[in-house]
Amino acid sequence: MRLQSFGAACTVTGSMHLLTLDGGRRILIDCGLFQGGGDLEARNHETYPFDPADLDAVILTHAHLDHVGRLPLLVNRGYRGPVYCTPPTAALAGTVLLDSARLQVEGYRQQVRRARRQDREHEVLPPLYDEEDVHRTLALLRPVLEFGQRSEVAGLRVTPQRAGHILGSAYLLLESADGRLIMSGDLGNRESGLQPDFTPPPQADAVVIETTYANRSHRAWPGTLAEFSEALRQSVRAGGKILIPSFAIERSQTILHTLKRLMDSGEVPRIPVFLDSPMAARATHAYFEFGDELLPEVRDALRAGEDPFAPSTLHVVLTGDESQRINRYDGPAVILAGNGMMTGGRIQHHLRHHLWKPGTSLIIVSYQSPSSLGGQIVAGADTLQRNTVQIMGEDIAVRAQIHTIGGFSAHADQDDLLAFLSSTGNPHVWLVHGEVAVMDAFLPQLTARGLKGDIVPDCQEVDLLGSGFSGGRPPGLALDATSAGVQAEGGE
Ligand SMILES: [Zn+2]
Repeated sequence: MRLQSFGAACTVTGSMHLLTLDGGRRILIDCGLFQGGGDLEARNHETYPFDPADLDAVILTHAHLDHVGRLPLLVNRGYRGPVYCTPPTAALAGTVLLDSARLQVEGYRQQVRRARRQDREHEVLPPLYDEEDVHRTLALLRPVLEFGQRSEVAGLRVTPQRAGHILGSAYLLLESADGRLIMSGDLGNRESGLQPDFTPPPQADAVVIETTYANRSHRAWPGTLAEFSEALRQSVRAGGKILIPSFAIERSQTILHTLKRLMDSGEVPRIPVFLDSPMAARATHAYFEFGDELLPEVRDALRAGEDPFAPSTLHVVLTGDESQRINRYDGPAVILAGNGMMTGGRIQHHLRHHLWKPGTSLIIVSYQSPSSLGGQIVAGADTLQRNTVQIMGEDIAVRAQIHTIGGFSAHADQDDLLAFLSSTGNPHVWLVHGEVAVMDAFLPQLTARGLKGDIVPDCQEVDLLGSGFSGGRPPGLALDATSAGVQAEGGE
């Protein structure tokens, strides 16, 4: 059983793992886009040292862009086989990939316009894919994987289990004559507002596990709820707009559900809530369709015909004109808009309109990479400097109150990861989807539990049941091999 990772090895984005079984069958687990700008995104144009047409199958763990976003490229390069996933993942993947194609094409047109003015049009790379490519890709989806049920994929026995990360997310138990392997995909925070905990995994010979937050602990859910509720009350008192940048999948539904609970219980005044993200509105349909997958309180509300994602004051904003009109609305209101790191999307024009007003509140519920607009705003707030940021080509002063709520993460923390491993027996543990420094900090935790742990090197094949590396680190792996600190939560 050999593994070669062409993404999410020593970084947290671009998940793509090639599994080669004895006898030569090849299965690709996830096929995600590199996100986070610069050098990382340049890797999306890389070719692979294998012919996509030779793959026996692709299996997706979940629908985040950093796990599915290179799939249309794989198809463009010749893959015509099946792409297995759970039914909710198939539903969300359509929304995610079509949005990604739209952003690719829009980004390309914008770059061409700029380059033309400098006579450098020929230097602009074409979009990775367009809508037509996505439709050809979606035709290959086989949403036949059901949680807890064993299926046969290219001669391999595959059992998906609930990963508790986002709707439809699965970890995979893969069994063949070679041994039993668990591929974790992204594992969930066991204190989620919507997802049940991951199913405890069985014993295995090897576990390939994500390590996004393997070096830290999240705040407990009740604390997060109290913090969010207090930030909202303070924001309502401040009297201005309350901006909540959010990712379209899972985070937006979690925030809407939480707002509804807090307003229904009277903890937070009923003020208007604008959901200004057509993609989040589309994704929410999948939460209705697959509501049985959610926490019992949410599932029961859905079964009773209620909408757990709709505070009574909710307005869903679809067109760009409607989005602009929100700014004419007087008085406090919540505006939930994408994208989560404020690097694009409708949140930008709301920030331009309101960030400079002292009555405005910005409630941050997602990770902000240091280089993103959100990261710059948070850094300015942390140093108590009244800073200025560039938004849509304009310098905007940051006078809004900034509240950062860290506990909404959809990823497992160190305790969650160790709890996941605790039922797997004595497997060889292979670390992926993490910064090198974070994985380094996690290795001694494994040693202390008598487990052998190794970091999966980028693009280099490893024998999952072999002896691994001494000390857990591939030779020559430098700390600066880490990415710029982007967290792959899936973009909007
Ligand atoms: Zn994910």
